[in-house]
Amino acid sequence: MENIRNFVIIAHIDHGKSTLADRFLEITGTVDKRKMKEQFLDQLDLERERGITIKMAPVRMKYEVEGKSFILNLIDTPGHSDFSYEVSRALEAVEGAILLVDATQGIQAQTLANFRFAKATGLKIIGAINKIDLFKNNDGTINFNDERLNLITKELARLIGVSESEIFFVSGKTGEGTEELLREVVKKVPPPKTKSSGAGNTRALIFDSFYDDHKGVIASVRVFEGVINWNDDIRLIATNTRSKIKEIGYFFPELSSIGKQEEISSGEIGYVATGIRDPEKVKIGDTLVQFDKTKQQSSVKVEPLAGYKEPNPVVFVSFYPEENDDYELLEKGFQKLHLNDAALLIEPDQNEVLGRGFKVGFLGKLHFEITAERLRREFKVQTVNTFPSVLYKIKTTTRWVEIVKPEDLPKEYHEIMEPIIVINIILPREYLSSVVAFQENFRLSSITTETIGDRVKFSAQMPLAELVSDFDDQLKSATHGLASFSYELLGYEKANVVRTDILVSHEIIPGLSRFFPRDSVEYEARAMVVKLKKLLPRQQFNQPIQAQADGRIIARDDIPALRKDVTGYLYGGDRTRKMKLWKKQQRGKKKLNERSKVQISPETFKELLKK
Ligand code: GDP
Ligand code: MG
Repeated sequence: MENIRNFVIIAHIDHGKSTLADRFLEITGTVDKRKMKEQFLDQLDLERERGITIKMAPVRMKYEVEGKSFILNLIDTPGHSDFSYEVSRALEAVEGAILLVDATQGIQAQTLANFRFAKATGLKIIGAINKIDLFKNNDGTINFNDERLNLITKELARLIGVSESEIFFVSGKTGEGTEELLREVVKKVPPPKTKSSGAGNTRALIFDSFYDDHKGVIASVRVFEGVINWNDDIRLIATNTRSKIKEIGYFFPELSSIGKQEEISSGEIGYVATGIRDPEKVKIGDTLVQFDKTKQQSSVKVEPLAGYKEPNPVVFVSFYPEENDDYELLEKGFQKLHLNDAALLIEPDQNEVLGRGFKVGFLGKLHFEITAERLRREFKVQTVNTFPSVLYKIKTTTRWVEIVKPEDLPKEYHEIMEPIIVINIILPREYLSSVVAFQENFRLSSITTETIGDRVKFSAQMPLAELVSDFDDQLKSATHGLASFSYELLGYEKANVVRTDILVSHEIIPGLSRFFPRDSVEYEARAMVVKLKKLLPRQQFNQPIQAQADGRIIARDDIPALRKDVTGYLYGGDRTRKMKLWKKQQRGKKKLNERSKVQISPETFKELLKK
């Protein structure tokens, strides 16, 4: 136990966590040189393509310092705020954290947010400034005279509450300084606390899980007490599920024959292949204990570990299978995704036209996009989905109801309440005025600004719905990507919004209804109709697009019919023959008109969300 160190790397997105983890894997010889590739721990195809970490990734490494051998369990974490639930769970499984800051970017919104989490969890925090290869003198030494670098060092030291001399300077790219940093982890991060335990007292926290077709649900665990033996029967407290272990082991980082173990002991991180087939039985945050086979019970009454706070979804989208027959496939897909992504909130849903589906809660828009993509790739199911929406609270004469789809708005109601956030944006001062100008497009209030080093922190209140529309994209383009933000839910406020439905060929299109602020409903409705005209494919027939609010049409446009020239091959003057063909075409169009059904692609939805 004395020689175990469990730690995470936390940072804002792109500050170099996964690349630093690569160097640690190399230094400790954990991954074979031939197999090594950049951002090795980003194992999902989607992570590699997009160059971002979505899932936390644990790996066990061996490292020798001054003749003593140590076991290091590292968990690489995602940086984007939509995946902060992954980070918070990883923090509970370790004793220390490297807080990494990109030397060219300085402290960003997620640096602050992650620091606060780590501190609240009671972790030992080591500060490191990364990408130091970009601050070099001609002779190859680090340019400590650089003003920016000095300022960032000061800010980071002040944030953590250490002296500047305790901040490390590293380059994940060249490897410079990374070995010193790893030695500091061994020196400063405390070993896991031992808990003396009697027989049968084993307790392990399930901090993550995934599905394996052969071994069933595999739980990633941190053992806090006792020992898990591969021969054990186990019980999961929350769902009271018993099972016989199929296999246990360490992450290297993938599961392999060398990782297989007979035991995992208190203080260690590893995996337990539970053999359980039903994904619903394994809950992230649950406690895994031993089951006494001889007595047919959990031998000792064991208290569950603290577990996790429930995730707090902010964006809701309903998914329906494109083909009704695919409902079961979609259900299985969501169950398995949920195993691997505890932040998802999944409930059954029903739509008149689209049939049975699921209402899913997400931690943000990127979380939604990534999940939809994983569903498509990993489970091969095509879906139709509604607009991302926030959760509205509606006061009717008799009670409060919560809805995420404007279609579900009760016929009679008194009040609509919507969630309000405080958003904190860190940005270079020269862009401040463009962000202040956002007041024209987004419902911002209570704006304050504050200087942080050479940048500004801009804070404001705003309905969450504004963030779900394209606030983030607008911020990115207005600041050339140099702003970062984080936000917190403040509460609910009365919303002056109106439900707007979209009709194509005189039929309300399910999923296209939205709430718009009353002040701008005509403008927004018009914009949506114009966009739809461009986005929807033309058909053989004319398609009117209308927006309707408060029972009246407030905008209209038409998608003209495709004109197929049926007479093109007829030269010259046979007028009667031409007329005949035109007549026939007209009849065909009428038929098509009757059974027109509009399909809205995910790309169309995304375009529609832009302001
Ligand atoms: P993460 O999002 O924090 O995991 O960041 P990544 O490890 O994926 O790195 C983000 C980007 O920064 C990648 O393009 C890396 O190649 C680059 N990068 C990472 N570390 C360094 C470094 O030390 N120096 C330089 N110049 N670039 C780096
Ligand atoms: Mg990463």
